[in-house]
Amino acid sequence: MSVVDEIKDRLDITEVIQSYVPLKKAGRSYKGLCPFHAEKTPSFVVFPHTGTWHCFGACSTGGDVFTFIMKQENLDFGEALKLLAQRAGVELEPASPQANEAEQRRDLLRAINQSAAAYFHYLLSNSDEAERARAYLGERGLDQETIDRFQVGYALDRWDALFKYLTDKGYSPVDIAEAGLIVERESGGQQSSGRGYYDRFRGRIVFPIRDHQGRPIGFGGRILGDGVPKYLNSPQSPLFDKSRVLFGLDLAKVGIRTTGEAVIVEGYMDVLMAHQYGINNVIAQMGTALTEAQLQRLKRYTQRFILALDSDAAGDQATLRGLDVARQVMDHEVVPVPTAQGLIRFEDRLAADIRSLSLPPDEDPDEVIREDPAHWARLVVAAKPVMDYYFDALTADLDLATAKGKAEATRRLGPLIAELGDRVQRTHYLQQLARMIQV
Ligand code: ZN
Repeated sequence: MSVVDEIKDRLDITEVIQSYVPLKKAGRSYKGLCPFHAEKTPSFVVFPHTGTWHCFGACSTGGDVFTFIMKQENLDFGEALKLLAQRAGVELEPASPQANEAEQRRDLLRAINQSAAAYFHYLLSNSDEAERARAYLGERGLDQETIDRFQVGYALDRWDALFKYLTDKGYSPVDIAEAGLIVERESGGQQSSGRGYYDRFRGRIVFPIRDHQGRPIGFGGRILGDGVPKYLNSPQSPLFDKSRVLFGLDLAKVGIRTTGEAVIVEGYMDVLMAHQYGINNVIAQMGTALTEAQLQRLKRYTQRFILALDSDAAGDQATLRGLDVARQVMDHEVVPVPTAQGLIRFEDRLAADIRSLSLPPDEDPDEVIREDPAHWARLVVAAKPVMDYYFDALTADLDLATAKGKAEATRRLGPLIAELGDRVQRTHYLQQLARMIQV
């Protein structure tokens, strides 16, 4: 990927242009007054989907984020490149030998993962031993197109199938182990097949995990039958850091930009099923709680998040943690607020719209979508603002009839209400709190 592409990938063109030109959402694009000619009706349009802008007025010209900055800041390409690289956090200096070496190493590990993904996928489609896996995926309702698109695979229930396949291709055991695909035996181990390594994924359906650019960096494996653990992920490696990855983002990023919202689920199956039904703004977090790094990445595509997490108690704790992280990470904006004295006060407010979606009891997103995609669409529309969620979740353990419970409810909810960006909303929730504690 070239530096220019990487910068474009990292920057949201709408966000960049919005720092010069006030924009309003108009369908899939954004409109504003053209900064390059005088006008009273907006004819300047930004297309986040394609990363371009166009003036349909007097200029009748357009381009990408680079041409915009060159025109706006009166810079040549080299200067615009510097400015945007800095903004995107992309390193322009010639890379050091160590950095080059590390990148080559990651390239090698990605190539190993790519080979393994192709091998697993081939086995799922062609191996007799994968019969149960094919039957399972069929029962879960996945069609062949989705299986191919996500390159779902099957790891044979053997100790050395992948080991043999990859070493035959010329990869060294040390490298395959670093890619997380084989495990070195403890020395003096009981099993002596003459080799020092065994396959990490055995007898499992495997889902390749890709970075936002679609490069394979690891695998998630689901056991068939009753083995433990039910789910096994690639270990931490120079490629794979589960606290940073969002499963499906490579396929969902365009959908997230065009719908203006990201729906975050918990399972691989949920993501696959959503995409199978054309719902392409769904991604999965990789752990029990959303992390700051995951949200920092998502923020490049949207400011609106919908969390569709398990409705059981453990899920609630995870949701709360995720929402907490989200509030801390998301941008705060400074907004002018007129005061009663006719003055303007500037306040720091949360710029994100974070919602929580209520799943039917004992149903996962993939089941809801498969039964009725329209039901899913309704649930997304009906997702509750995070504040409503907090009202329920943060007061569930309190006795609101007592003074102590009332004080505690206020202590927990007050700061969250104060953070709300919209004055009407703030008043709404203050009243709701007052009603709840009858004060
Ligand atoms: Zn113009």
